[in-house]
Amino acid sequence: MAHKVTLLPGDGTGPEVTSAMKMCVEATGVKIDWEVCEVGEKSIVKYGQPLTDIVLESIRRNKCAIKGPITTPIGKGFRSVNVQLRQSLDLFACVRPCFYYEGTKTPIKNVNLMIFRENTEDLYAGIEFDINTPEVARLRALINEMSPKKVKEDSAISIKPISMSGSKRIVKFAFDWAVKLERRKVTAVHKANIMKFSDGLFLRCAQEVAKQYAGKIEFNDCIVDNMCMQLVQSTHLYDCLVLPNLYGDIISDLCAGLVGSLGIAPGANYGDEIALFEPVHGSAPKYAGQNKVNPTATILSSVWMLRHLKEEAAATRLDNAVRAVLKDGKHVTYDLKADRNDPSAVGTMQMAEAICKKI
Ligand code: NAD
Repeated sequence: MAHKVTLLPGDGTGPEVTSAMKMCVEATGVKIDWEVCEVGEKSIVKYGQPLTDIVLESIRRNKCAIKGPITTPIGKGFRSVNVQLRQSLDLFACVRPCFYYEGTKTPIKNVNLMIFRENTEDLYAGIEFDINTPEVARLRALINEMSPKKVKEDSAISIKPISMSGSKRIVKFAFDWAVKLERRKVTAVHKANIMKFSDGLFLRCAQEVAKQYAGKIEFNDCIVDNMCMQLVQSTHLYDCLVLPNLYGDIISDLCAGLVGSLGIAPGANYGDEIALFEPVHGSAPKYAGQNKVNPTATILSSVWMLRHLKEEAAATRLDNAVRAVLKDGKHVTYDLKADRNDPSAVGTMQMAEAICKKI
């Protein structure tokens, strides 16, 4: 029987990379009944909003979805659809594998990291108060009354909630995955030296959860700024990282750089019952419609989707096909060439076709 999967093509280059992904998944022979839904700019044109209940109901019904990136206006306009999806569906765990693929040009060889990012809390909770609003004035007055530290009158305020339940569940998720994937170590990343209450709570929760895995999985912690340097200088010392939302987002892009390109970094978001797969990269709008960007991140996201659907053999064949094309280095997009203007770089669909031929 075919698996039912919600497909959200998204904005910018999203429709191109998801078409390429769909072609590769179909080439594995796994039967998928795709339920295609509009989000982002197309949804605004059709329904007046970037995310509708039609999409949420489809994902809740199918319990499995894969998406392209969605554009978010910077500093104004509607809030991120990605954040709304993760919060509405309680997709609390964002998993971002960062592996070295032979043939890619990377600053460091043999990167092998799993990133577990909390997805629903922290500064991404969306609790913000804009400058010169009555709300920010009330909040400022309250803070100035309760705290010896004063907030300036011309401020905007974003709130950083970190809960004990949210922290424990992401750390437990990271450890359970570390056990399942036979990894050796989990590192909790934080800034608890400065944010003693919010990040301090995250760290204490991580230390407590880690005790349940003592003897099976090693545990340590690292301050986020030091982590950035460590990842560049001593990547091999790290294995699985678990982080609050904002640090997880930033460190994921850093690690995508370590494996050679955002174009090859896959991702997945998990809740208790639902899983939503997506590349780490954004909609790269300047390349939209040019058949130019790398489809690998979305194709590798579908490898994780196939594993989730218990299609392990197909997932392995697709993963190996991607590896073969990257190693060969001929039928790859511009971002994987030594010279980005190399005329031998192929387009999005041509790279996907080369992958299909190796399945
Ligand atoms: P971006 O990831 O779109 O682009 C950053 C850089 O990486 C650009 O130089 C781009 O050309 C390159 N790049 C991205 N994807 C690539 C690919 N597949 N192959 C080759 N090169 C690739 O990030 P941005 O420019 O900061 O954001 C653009 C838009 O995407 C924004 O609206 C942002 O909010 C949104 N965004 C969405 C998601 C998501 O949907 N999950 C994630 C990040 C950003």
